[in-house]
Amino acid sequence: MPRAVVTGGAGFLGSHLCRELRARGWEVVAVDNLLTGRRQNVEDLLGPGFELVEHDVIRSLPVDGLVDAVLHFASPASPPEYLAHPVETLEVGSIGTRHALELARERGARFLLASTSEVYGDPLVHPQPETYWGNVNSVGPRAVYDEAKRYAEALTMTYHRLYDLDTKIVRIFNTFGEGLASGDGRVVSNFLAQALDGKPLTVYGDGTQTRSFCYVADEVRGILALLDSDHEGPMNIGNPDEFTVLELAELVLDVTGSDSEVTFEELPVDDPVRRRPDISLASKILGWRPEIDLREGLARTYEWYRGERDRGRA
Ligand code: NAD
Ligand code: UDP
Repeated sequence: MPRAVVTGGAGFLGSHLCRELRARGWEVVAVDNLLTGRRQNVEDLLGPGFELVEHDVIRSLPVDGLVDAVLHFASPASPPEYLAHPVETLEVGSIGTRHALELARERGARFLLASTSEVYGDPLVHPQPETYWGNVNSVGPRAVYDEAKRYAEALTMTYHRLYDLDTKIVRIFNTFGEGLASGDGRVVSNFLAQALDGKPLTVYGDGTQTRSFCYVADEVRGILALLDSDHEGPMNIGNPDEFTVLELAELVLDVTGSDSEVTFEELPVDDPVRRRPDISLASKILGWRPEIDLREGLARTYEWYRGERDRGRA
């Protein structure tokens, strides 16, 4: 049985990856300090073939035995959360990535880095292909996340060149779905929680900024196809359907049947104006395309949020 280490395995994406890897017959070790993740995300997996090690990967990555793949997903991902933990975010992207790469190198494992569309910053090229170098403010508040991920990419490619490590870098664009912590600060999570509670949907700025939202099952399928591929550099995995934040708010109201109002709040500093992945590379190399549209993904996620509330876990 192949064996994977998933850092950040108790988080939103990490827990989906752990579940899918188990379903594909992998043994999985999740390493997570529960900074933004939750044990309940993986408690159904606990048992033979799956282990959750509660540990901070900034300190070390203590996993014994054979390892076939290291998937480095540990990092706060929601803007309010990384802004609340700025030094930890810089360190998990730098020191944490070093530990994850060292583990892969020592055990001869494949390495996959969870990078982000934020490496493109406030992009001047639209849509964004992997060849675009980005437009990041290196001294602004968001730099703790953006620059940590850019450093993590640079370190990953350095290990690839120096040690011939088998590396993959996935640039993930705004992903949502079951397991995304309710009201965690990210827009889909906030809007669905607000609609469920009958509270106003908080649009930042005038809501004309755009994002392209990918449903989690599509994202995870793309990430694991990349892991299985021979492609060693960065690859965008995201849904190219682009929406303004105001369009998203209207869709959430429609899908949930909520009569919440929409209110307007201050736009965060350096909030990117528009973002949409060019997925030509993923489609050419992996034959990957997303299948679930935003409306369907929102409906599924809202159903899960309602279930969580009924279970008393919201
Ligand atoms: P998340 O916050 O749900 O998961 C992150 C996990 O990392 C959490 O379980 C957290 O406890 C853990 N973690 C943080 N610091 C750690 C540390 N020092 N040691 C051990 N564990 C630590 O967020 P997510 O959306 O699942 O994001 C997972 C990864 O994907 C992140 O690296 C994020 O940057 C990347 N990503 C996500 C998105 C998205 O839209 N969801 C977009 C781009 C990139
Ligand atoms: N946003 C919003 N209301 C919220 C949360 C976020 O209008 O309650 C906006 C945010 O300003 C940004 C977009 O939604 O323009 C996406 O924000 P998110 O934090 O989900 O992701 P990111 O900015 O990292 O793409």
